[in-house]
Amino acid sequence: MFQDPSSSAHDTSPAGLYIHIPFCVKKCSYCDFYSITDPSLQLLFADALISEMKMIGKTGLVYDTLYIGGGTPSVLDDAVLKKIIDAAGQCFDILSDVETTLEVNPGTVTLNQFKNYRKAGVNRISIGIQSFNPENLGFLGRIHSVIDAETAVKWAQKAGFENIGLDLIYGIPGQTDESWLKDLQTAVNLRPQHLSCYMLSYEPGTPMHMDLQNQAFKPLPEEQVCKLYEIAVTFLSAHHYIQYETSNFAQEAVGGRGTKSALTYASRHNMKYWNFAPYIGLGPSAHSFMDQKRFWNHSSVEKYIGELSAGRLPRAGEESLNREQQWIEAVYLGLRQTKGIAVDAFDKKFGVNFKDKYAGIIADLQEKGLMKSSMDRCALTSRGMLYLDAIAAMFI
Ligand code: SF4
Repeated sequence: MFQDPSSSAHDTSPAGLYIHIPFCVKKCSYCDFYSITDPSLQLLFADALISEMKMIGKTGLVYDTLYIGGGTPSVLDDAVLKKIIDAAGQCFDILSDVETTLEVNPGTVTLNQFKNYRKAGVNRISIGIQSFNPENLGFLGRIHSVIDAETAVKWAQKAGFENIGLDLIYGIPGQTDESWLKDLQTAVNLRPQHLSCYMLSYEPGTPMHMDLQNQAFKPLPEEQVCKLYEIAVTFLSAHHYIQYETSNFAQEAVGGRGTKSALTYASRHNMKYWNFAPYIGLGPSAHSFMDQKRFWNHSSVEKYIGELSAGRLPRAGEESLNREQQWIEAVYLGLRQTKGIAVDAFDKKFGVNFKDKYAGIIADLQEKGLMKSSMDRCALTSRGMLYLDAIAAMFI
């Protein structure tokens, strides 16, 4: 639900718990998530993480999602992961129908690991595949092959997982309509319940960004990137995947009375980020949001362990969102979801009349086929999502 970001009351809706596992086998050339490739600190990290849980466990929040991401959680020993999940269960008030997601990287998992994940309580798997094209995998610096990727999905299914999400990347230099369609077709053939299609972005500080600046490769022209996005939306819709956010698609599920719904397989955890629900992030670089405040941890495993060993929270900073920041977030987060901005809630929150204030812009966007507006919602069309940043800026 769209919550009141200007409210000073304590958040009461179920919160999300995020755990950042900061280890990878090798850094992918495009990635700017915090992780290190030296595994020697894994056990000390796990102990520090459990200390962090004990220090902040009882915040008064109740959780219905646990998301273990990174980094590459599947590089940890299964027993260590189980210990982490058990500790979370002991330190936090977690509801019995919790969605527990584990991110895995093909090439770091076996069938047996998937079986152990299920026994440990994981009920949703997110597999970072990125592409089924070997050249693309090489360009992205991934450690796994196409076969590894397909095998990982099949093993997860064989282990009994019934909620599996795959991540794909589009906009890779040289990517054609045909090769992207082949990626999508291969993904759909594997019958995952969820697909995330992310546009390749060149993040400052990454090797890929440096190569771009050194003109080591030619980026895909913007029109082609847009075309690939539209191909994904059309293709996935035709294959019964419902878009619920700019990059996210959930397999259509048939509800109790034959109704079709995307909500069954939409990522309950990620929706918290977009709906102003509270979340607590644990581990190096993890961010939290609670009572209109953001706070975040140090992006260094050593510093993280050091602070917790000294009995201190590994906090690197915090900020309270002012009215302007809350407005920006309400617009941006609303527009990135296909359900759009809940106008009544927005008006109540900010004491404005959104539709009156922006009547001209809304009419113009509607005429261009970029926005649809109903009594209570203003939402971007799939095509409008291509220009999310530019359109959100018009309402700020
Ligand atoms: S495996 Fe994931 S987290 Fe690790 S470097 Fe690659 S993209 Fe980043």
